[in-house]
Amino acid sequence: MVQHSDFDDPGVREVIVVGGGIAGLSAAIYLGRAQRDTLVIDSGHSMAKWEPVVENYLGFPRGVGGEELLKNGTFQAKRHDVRFVRDEITSVSAGKSVFALKGKEKRYRTRRLLLATGIFHRPPEIPGVKECLGHSMFFCKDCDGYRVRGKRIAIVGANNEAVEYALGMLHYSACVIVVTNGDRPRWDKRHARWLDEYEIPVARQPVRDVEHRKRKIRALEFAGEKSVKIDYLFTTRGDVFYNQLAKKLGAKLDSDGQIKVDQCMRTSVPRLYAAGCVTPANCQMIIAAGQGAAAAQAINRDLFEESLATHSLQHFRAAQIDKEKTVPEISRTNRKGRKK
Ligand SMILES: Cc1cc2nc3c(=O)[nH]c(=O)nc-3n(C[C@H](O)[C@H](O)[C@H](O)COP(=O)(O)OP(=O)(O)OC[C@H]3O[C@@H](n4cnc5c(N)ncnc54)[C@H](O)[C@@H]3O)c2cc1C
Repeated sequence: MVQHSDFDDPGVREVIVVGGGIAGLSAAIYLGRAQRDTLVIDSGHSMAKWEPVVENYLGFPRGVGGEELLKNGTFQAKRHDVRFVRDEITSVSAGKSVFALKGKEKRYRTRRLLLATGIFHRPPEIPGVKECLGHSMFFCKDCDGYRVRGKRIAIVGANNEAVEYALGMLHYSACVIVVTNGDRPRWDKRHARWLDEYEIPVARQPVRDVEHRKRKIRALEFAGEKSVKIDYLFTTRGDVFYNQLAKKLGAKLDSDGQIKVDQCMRTSVPRLYAAGCVTPANCQMIIAAGQGAAAAQAINRDLFEESLATHSLQHFRAAQIDKEKTVPEISRTNRKGRKK
């Protein structure tokens, strides 16, 4: 079968996806099935790896491991001829019709570029907490609030967001405490009033240590020998957005550093797309996957329209006519529909 890629400069991909997490893999599956010559470049740090049991992804009523989703997604994309390389892209530039990417291992060129580089949730600066990540220490109420129903929950933070987090958590548990970890509270008067009104206690001392066993938190130990028994810890320290490549290309970012996109995941830079948590999406796996699919569809459509505008589809068709049967076989049938 004649392929699009037979007509391309072999040194230039049709599409490169930077980031092989949930958004990037979903895009890759769509692009592979659209027969686009696609390369996924991934440095291997998807946040999905932190989640042992994803309970809110459609189609897995008993949950699915984040690692398993990534493994299956990669397998699925490979089945559609998508290629993968382990590398970290450190720099990018845009030519008239091609992006040039420089990785730690190699250089790459592509006609369309999708950034699905994700974010990094900053864990709290509390000793012993990292081991509990994804098991009893979480970042996301929407992902994990349900699984901590009725438990003892601490929210680490000292700003308005931490207060709202604690208030939102009341839907899941009556036993919620805010822990400022020694920081001076920065919440405003309105939020302070809410803490009083809803009788949410605040611990202001620095956390000296976390008592945990088999990744399950048991208590926070404060300076001055006090401790509080809890089951789960949530934090609101904020996120680091992996937006450096978008910045380099001059794409518009919002005030948090998220890459601005339209409904089809197009950025403000022509031929550049972004999907997943690096955009202003609510950072959930199913949303990242949906955005990846939307980006892939826009890329496929834009490449198709370009092929009409530049007449490259005509070269493709000429090769089909030359090499393949292009008219279905027509044979005469009798009245009963049987071939004569
Ligand atoms: C502890 C924890 C628990 C979570 N639990 C849930 C849950 O239960 N349900 C849910 O819906 N969501 C959950 N999430 C959020 C979920 O992980 C994200 O929504 C999802 O992974 C976002 O997908 P993404 O593709 O945008 O980013 P990611 O999956 O993080 O993928 C980004 C990829 O880009 C790569 N990359 C970045 N920069 C470069 C570069 N310059 N060059 C090459 N590669 C690069 C990274 O290595 C990474 O593989 C959880 C997150 C955490 C941290």
